[in-house]
Amino acid sequence: MPRYEYRCRTCGDTFELSRPMAESSAPATCPSGHGDTVKLLSTVAVGGAAKAPAAAPRTGGGGGCCGGGCCGG
Ligand SMILES: [Zn+2]
Repeated sequence: MPRYEYRCRTCGDTFELSRPMAESSAPATCPSGHGDTVKLLSTVAVGGAAKAPAAAPRTGGGGGCCGGGCCGG
């Protein structure tokens, strides 16, 4: 079961909860009993390899900056 990290905006504490994905956005209550919590973006790998974002291929040539006077100006 994936773990999600939350932060309480009342006491500022952070805590983790293991809950089904379907309930990842469900309201969470902090250990101190506060209900004003927000879900943090956590990069927890739960089985399987995380897909790395494909880097945009670098295109050769100037990007329209150099030559215009803004570089080395
Ligand atoms: Zn709290």
